[in-house]
Amino acid sequence: MSDEREFGFSTRTVHAGCRPEPTTGARALPIFQTTSYVFENCESAAAYFNLQEYGNTYSRIMNPTVAAFEERIASLDGGAGAVAFASGLAAQAAALFTLLRPGDHVVASRALYGGTVTQLKHVLGKLNVALDFVDPDDMDAWRAAMRDTTKVLFAETIGNPGGNILDIEAVAEIAHAHQCPLMIDNTFATPYLCRPLEWGADIVVYSATKFLGGHGTSLGGVVVESGKFDWSNGRFPVIADPSPAYHGLAFHETFGVYGYLMKLRAETLRDLGAAISPFNAFLLAQGVETLPLRMRQHVANAQAVAEFLAADKRVAAVSYPGLAGSKYSSLARKYLPGGCGAVFCFDLPGGREHGMRFIEALSLFSHLANVGDAKSLVIHPASTTHRQLNDEELAGAGIRPGTVRLSIGIEDADDLIWDLEQGLAALGD
Ligand SMILES: *Cc1c(COP(=O)(O)O)cnc(C)c1O
Repeated sequence: MSDEREFGFSTRTVHAGCRPEPTTGARALPIFQTTSYVFENCESAAAYFNLQEYGNTYSRIMNPTVAAFEERIASLDGGAGAVAFASGLAAQAAALFTLLRPGDHVVASRALYGGTVTQLKHVLGKLNVALDFVDPDDMDAWRAAMRDTTKVLFAETIGNPGGNILDIEAVAEIAHAHQCPLMIDNTFATPYLCRPLEWGADIVVYSATKFLGGHGTSLGGVVVESGKFDWSNGRFPVIADPSPAYHGLAFHETFGVYGYLMKLRAETLRDLGAAISPFNAFLLAQGVETLPLRMRQHVANAQAVAEFLAADKRVAAVSYPGLAGSKYSSLARKYLPGGCGAVFCFDLPGGREHGMRFIEALSLFSHLANVGDAKSLVIHPASTTHRQLNDEELAGAGIRPGTVRLSIGIEDADDLIWDLEQGLAALGD
């Protein structure tokens, strides 16, 4: 890439992180399926292990195919850098683990991906880190939850099942007033629809398994950091102080804007080991090449399907923030001008029985537990992912017995609407 010109988003989805391979001339991103790398000599080997020089040693810590994927995502998000992981949950866990110590406190939105809620509740508990969930729409609730020991605020750009859009700028302000970073899970928006770092967030995490990869083939996760947060503000000795796990290295002082990311890679990834395979990094990097094209079709289809459902008398409610009259309309215009993503819920009035009958009657939508595939997906939480909950517990999670979740793919919108019509017809009168 040229030093003089700032390339546009679509150009970077194809080119960032990937130059023609100098030895062979290969234009596609090579899959470096190797665990380890021959050192030039003993001196450079020692320099790598001292982190005095940056170079490949072992693929748990870095790999050239993975590095290309990381550089591409960092470029698209406008971050200082990125570190990839084996899955979205591995990325989140590592991002949190890097900045937390026992006795710390985390404030999180209560409208989060189910796997994240479980991770926060159980893993943080085991680390003796306290946790409060708050209504992400309520700025007073965020403010009231802050403690002296609070070290990070966590939320999703677009929450589920309510389609909550986070006021990123306002929550970042609350975090920064307490010298804490704001961490955003931007999986549903992707950097094509929203770049949280531009609104004051400090760390962005992704399940690349979803829209970034885009084809439902490969698990992966990635952490992006802005490089702007002051980890030496006195609240983060875990990053600023000399590290006993790295012969007394002070990561923030030594690496400046890369301090957090270097600790995330050279310590957390090294020691916890949730590395992504080069092959998955290749597939995810290839998926990203068509991200703008796919996201435009995903959001156009989602808008059309949401409008169809909202206009149908057999449907009780549709929580897509792109619908006219949504309580998130003004936040959607600000943070998601290109569209509100392609995952949303709607309610059937007839409860569990209707939810199951509806899904049985569909033929084009796939009934499964994933989102962000090029193919359209559907799930009825009350009979699957949230099956163990009674109606009262479901309500606590914002899910009603008749709630159906859709992940809208890139097929022809007419065909998707035809399929949903089959589902609605099966409900009878
Ligand atoms: C899927 C998902 C995750 C977890 O990612 P995995 O790659 O499945 O580990 C986290 N957040 C959101 C919003 C997700 O959709």
